Amino acid sequence: MKTEVVKKYLRLEKMPTVWCPGCGNGIILGSLLRAFELRGRSKDDIVLISGIGCSGRTPGYVDVHTLHTTHGRAIAFATGVKMMMPKMSVIVVMGDGDCTAIGGNHFIHAARRNLDITAIVYNNGIYGMTGGQVSPTTPYEAYATTAPYGQMEAPFDIVELALGAGASYVARSSVNDVPKLDEIIMKGIRNDGFSVIDVITPCPIVFGRYNNLTADPMKNLEWIRETTIPKSKAAKMSEEELRGKWITGIFRDREKPGLINLYLDLEERLSKPGSGEDKGEEA
Ligand code: SF4
Repeated sequence: MKTEVVKKYLRLEKMPTVWCPGCGNGIILGSLLRAFELRGRSKDDIVLISGIGCSGRTPGYVDVHTLHTTHGRAIAFATGVKMMMPKMSVIVVMGDGDCTAIGGNHFIHAARRNLDITAIVYNNGIYGMTGGQVSPTTPYEAYATTAPYGQMEAPFDIVELALGAGASYVARSSVNDVPKLDEIIMKGIRNDGFSVIDVITPCPIVFGRYNNLTADPMKNLEWIRETTIPKSKAAKMSEEELRGKWITGIFRDREKPGLINLYLDLEERLSKPGSGEDKGEEA
């Protein structure tokens, strides 16, 4: 990454990060910083919010407005920030458990409302920081501290969840394809509405060691390379061949009025004399 981007956006006094060697979190952070730079907004106009977990440490390293909140509640905090300060570019970073277990309800309702924020999910399929418990995205038959015989439940597909709940921008990439990751994060931040970016990323220290990949970063990245399939290639594969794979690409990118725009339109309508829309006043 260019030195000037690093110096501009990182709180260098906080380095080194707490992340383990080979963790994918630093790669996602790099893509995020490049997206900020390309977007070209002032650092004063950006708010970066996280919950708890390894991903939750991200805002501590970035020199924009930052909030490190409670487990699963990052989107709830982001909702408040965006509603009060609609001109801010609000980005939420979450782990898979943070987003789809503890914060699952916030996630689906932010998508339903098409709230104008960008949600980036660091999806490593496990609770890394808290000791390797199963998360809603732990792959079928993968091992975890709470699944010593293999995960028996069907995992959530974050992309399908976001599409079904109504997000206007939905994409998935992995840390193995950094140019694509840069692109989809940039597009997500530009979207006026709820943007969901599911990033498949390695946790070599916990997931890797439990799943015969060891803590070797290269083995973990190789496994991700084998299990992520671009949309165009997936279209030619059978259901059987796609079992246990993550399909990558942009799944939805459509203009749909975000919640903030709907409120601003309402405010404008109500401000017109004789609009007759304020039922409260009539009563
Ligand atoms: Fe990364 Fe896993 Fe270490 Fe957390 S526990 S910093 S996710 S490698």
